[in-house]
Amino acid sequence: MAGFITKALHTRSRIKDANGALRMPVYENAAFEFDTAEAIDDVSVGKSIGHVYTRSSNPTVEHFELSVKNLTNSLGVMAFGSGMAAIATAVLTLVKAGESIITTKYLFGHTLSFFQNTLTALGINVKFVDISDENVVERSFDTSVKLIFLESISNPQLQVANLEKLAELSHTRNIPLVVDTTPTPFYMFEAKKFGVDIEVLSSTKFISGGGTSVGGLLIDNGIFDWKKTENLKSNYAKAGHFAFLHKARKEIFQGFGAVLSPTSAYLQTLGLETMALRIDRACENALELASWLEGKKGIKSVNYPFLKSSPFYEIAKKQFKYAGSILSIELESKSSAYRFMNRLKIIRRATNIHDNKSLIVSPYFVIYPFNSHEEKTALDITPGLLRLSVGIENIEDLKEDIEQALGG
Ligand SMILES: *Cc1c(COP(=O)(O)O)cnc(C)c1O
Repeated sequence: MAGFITKALHTRSRIKDANGALRMPVYENAAFEFDTAEAIDDVSVGKSIGHVYTRSSNPTVEHFELSVKNLTNSLGVMAFGSGMAAIATAVLTLVKAGESIITTKYLFGHTLSFFQNTLTALGINVKFVDISDENVVERSFDTSVKLIFLESISNPQLQVANLEKLAELSHTRNIPLVVDTTPTPFYMFEAKKFGVDIEVLSSTKFISGGGTSVGGLLIDNGIFDWKKTENLKSNYAKAGHFAFLHKARKEIFQGFGAVLSPTSAYLQTLGLETMALRIDRACENALELASWLEGKKGIKSVNYPFLKSSPFYEIAKKQFKYAGSILSIELESKSSAYRFMNRLKIIRRATNIHDNKSLIVSPYFVIYPFNSHEEKTALDITPGLLRLSVGIENIEDLKEDIEQALGG
């Protein structure tokens, strides 16, 4: 079975459903009972496979993880209660007090604040560098660095780094490359091919489909040799190649209780089945709109990595099937941007991304409300900037909506 959509539809659960349900049901319960005392013991110590308590594992959640594993041909997949939980778990599995990570300030707002505030308070040194400049990255390594973290396409700046190059720089130093691939999920980006060791994603976005539920994923692509990681030494002794997943699941995930609810896992498994169709449509709409908007009266600039005017055109084309469904446009001022937003009739004013509906937001005022003007300027966030997450509507309707909101 080779095709993505076929695989997405036909992943079978580990155990056949007792009633022959064609779709994995929602196991919305906390605990599971066993026939004998010995049987519960065996599962608890890992001698046999089963479920004991839903914070640790649950059939509906496990089926979601298995479906993603099948689609990614990865070593293993973990599902979380949110994208942030997946990010926090990936990072804290690899780094401890006194050590460092290399990253960029071009990050999702809560990731940036988690790194700047929470990690720093835990004694972890966060080096914010220009991740698109390989020489700068190369100079930032020292023996305290335990991982590199970045997003496959930063948002709202839409910066794309050369992942193959970053993987090479980090792998020669036995450091894993961790990438937030939310903007380019596994249907449109073969992370393994470009040397990405660990992928984290917010499954709230493209995967859930229609923004039905909050969730996160962590994928170990199975290319990093964890034997080389000092912080995973005892896990390697117990779990070998699965050392990273072992620590992430048994220690960090369990300790934080970062569990995905079975109902959300159900919704997200359903979303996974149509993700490819929705991505095709939304990304084609985004490219069409970006090209159409370029040079339009009232629009100062359009940013989308698959536009030839983007400095990231070449690298984005090389890495991704699509440049995602997010584009940004710059209007003259806050007042012209707000006037435009307020006149939109189809495109909704909301902060989410990758919904089926097109959504628009002002990053300056909504995504970074607590940063100073200077900080926002340094992040390329101006008052006239708008981020448009393009949905799956009929393209002519989106054009018409934008046209009427710009005009008059
Ligand atoms: C939304 C998002 C997150 C956080 O995900 P949640 O599911 O909201 O916790 C992280 N990274 C990126 C790029 C995102 O878009």
